[in-house]
Amino acid sequence: MFIPLTTLCRDSCGYCTFAKSPDHPGARTLNPDEVLEIARTGEQNGCKEALFSLGERPELTHALAREHLKQLGYETMLDYLHDMCKLVLNETTLVPHANPGSLTDSEMHTLRPVSPSMGMMLESSSVRLTERGGPHFGCPDKHPLVRLRTLRLAGELRVPFTTGILIGIGETRAERVDSLFDIRRLHADYGHIQEVIIQNFRAKPSTSMFGYAEPNVDEMVRTLAVARIILGPEMNLQAPPNLMPSEYGRYLRAGINDWGGVSPVTPDHINPEAAWPKIRELQSVSYSRGHILRERLSVYPDYLQEPVLWLDDNFQNYFVDLVSSDGLVRETEIEL
Ligand code: SF4
Repeated sequence: MFIPLTTLCRDSCGYCTFAKSPDHPGARTLNPDEVLEIARTGEQNGCKEALFSLGERPELTHALAREHLKQLGYETMLDYLHDMCKLVLNETTLVPHANPGSLTDSEMHTLRPVSPSMGMMLESSSVRLTERGGPHFGCPDKHPLVRLRTLRLAGELRVPFTTGILIGIGETRAERVDSLFDIRRLHADYGHIQEVIIQNFRAKPSTSMFGYAEPNVDEMVRTLAVARIILGPEMNLQAPPNLMPSEYGRYLRAGINDWGGVSPVTPDHINPEAAWPKIRELQSVSYSRGHILRERLSVYPDYLQEPVLWLDDNFQNYFVDLVSSDGLVRETEIEL
């Protein structure tokens, strides 16, 4: 399940409705009680992963974020994120998966003992998209060099890492392929990319990209198939089912092997208009195309099987009772 720690962000991506400007009533930072309440609701409903999603370094540009943090006793959102991951880890059975965006070496190092896996979408390696008129103009954390550096640091620190690309935000198909090759190169160097997400842009009211055409299912299928070829048969490839309702079954034939996190209790805060399909529906769509749906944790099986290499000391024995010998969640029946 999702924990939207803060909706304040120093960036302003052209397609985003998650981040709120300080004068918006939805601009807020969850306090520890709210974090725990969401986490406990997830725990009671069988969730395993606490996905912390948050805007990037809002305190650098927004007085409101500094005020929120001051009331909570912190100076930076990343310090607060660390302690909220620790709180969830200590007080619930959920495993934190932090998604705070770009990180420095010391920030990632600090988070590793409380978040055994982390994620950050590369989105695109195209510098062109950061130019005036592009979706990443004025978004320092979305410069490809910053994103790629974070991905490299994750490899150096041996953090099982989730990344991916966002398609349909103005990149060319060639640039899309360049982004996939960048991910492939980093994974070849470190072996740390546990999952690659191919996500389709959705045009949302009240964003500057509302009028833009959305990629259709054929474009998604084409991109997924190319991603499977570039990334090879071993890579975990994911596409979100809720962003292409009724047609997402075709993704299976294009090479995906993962539906991503599907929460029974919290909406997709990044795409709140797009309801998650029920797990029973995912199970049936998968089965009808020859697949069996199994539950995984936020750390993928390959990494759980080499804990000394990939996990902090805190997690050396943490997952043993949760997973079976194949690294997937132990129970055979998925909670419906
Ligand atoms: S997509 Fe992420 S980085 Fe961009 S504005 Fe939204 S929250 Fe901030």
